[in-house]
Amino acid sequence: MSTTKRCYYETLEVERGADESTLKSAFRKLAMKWHPDRNPGDASSEVRFKEINEAYEVLKDGDKRAAYDRYGHAAFEQGMGGGGPGFGAGFASSFSDIFEDLFGMAGQRGRGSGRERGADLRYNMEITLEDAYKGKTAQIEIPVSVTCDPCSGTGAKAGTKPKTCATCGGAGRVRQAQGFFTLERTCPSCQGRGQTIEDPCPSCSGSGRVTKERNLSVNIPQGVEDGTRIRLAGEGEAGVRGGPPGDLYIFLSLAPHDIFQRDGADLHCRVPISMVTAALGGEFEVPTIERGKTKVKVPSGTQTGRRFRIAGKGMPVLRSRQVGDMYVQVAVETPQNLTKKQQELLAEFEKLSSGATQPEAAGFFSMVKDFFGSRTSTP
Ligand SMILES: [Zn+2]
Ligand SMILES: [Zn+2]
Repeated sequence: MSTTKRCYYETLEVERGADESTLKSAFRKLAMKWHPDRNPGDASSEVRFKEINEAYEVLKDGDKRAAYDRYGHAAFEQGMGGGGPGFGAGFASSFSDIFEDLFGMAGQRGRGSGRERGADLRYNMEITLEDAYKGKTAQIEIPVSVTCDPCSGTGAKAGTKPKTCATCGGAGRVRQAQGFFTLERTCPSCQGRGQTIEDPCPSCSGSGRVTKERNLSVNIPQGVEDGTRIRLAGEGEAGVRGGPPGDLYIFLSLAPHDIFQRDGADLHCRVPISMVTAALGGEFEVPTIERGKTKVKVPSGTQTGRRFRIAGKGMPVLRSRQVGDMYVQVAVETPQNLTKKQQELLAEFEKLSSGATQPEAAGFFSMVKDFFGSRTSTP
């Protein structure tokens, strides 16, 4: 049995006296070459790959290597002296460890091809209240990096192909022994791509991406609010080397409006009315958000600050058929710059005034009277 097994040094294609770093680079090169993912459907490569791992597991360990040098494969068979019985059992676990270390990272990133998802982009857009009311299609221009056409994102000049990186064997990462530790870092030759480009594409200088002004129409639905975020899937930066693109997020902010203040779906506005309209009652017109007009009727004796509700003249609610209301608050304006005639008329009006014409004032002054009355009666 052990006699048919290939010599570990032969398996790794190194001399018997090979040092640690020679072993390691030989292992890395062969492991990449015979990795089952790179040789799909080839059962013999899987066997080869396991042999390579087994050989390296033994030879990288000083004790195991010494035992192997002395006893050969027999050192690791159950019941034999030399290496002891623990070795055989230990292989399975350390095998999977190294498998994870070497290929786990590369696997996540697309098996050493350096594929990366493109970055998400944020675009800030200010819209008017009217836009939020009606909804609109906005045309925007954004500088985005997109996949380079001539090289289809590979970064290699048309007609050429990227080569597997010789330093890392395509893994994108290299391992370095430092004392007892093995450090893994991004491959310096290929910056983690696992591939090197000898003839870079002239349009993108080998990056696989170019910056373009892209025109997009963004559909802004009715009822959006300040801070509403619209996601355009796949409209962000192009992926790196064939990776999927990122998303584009439109962050909406609402410009303040001259007439209306928004409170959720409701709109508020404040309208000054004359003292006479407030006293006699009447009708006045107010603008509405859809650029129309509506009439507000005020009864006689309307006080300042009173609110009138106009149903259905507010904002639409996002993704629903509901519509808010509009509230009109009146502010009674005290007349200014009166003519002589107006002053006389008001003075005459004042003479005719009583508690009934100004109920609030009458109530207040009677309280004041009571207040002083109670004070004088105390001492
Ligand atoms: Zn590399
Ligand atoms: Zn290109």
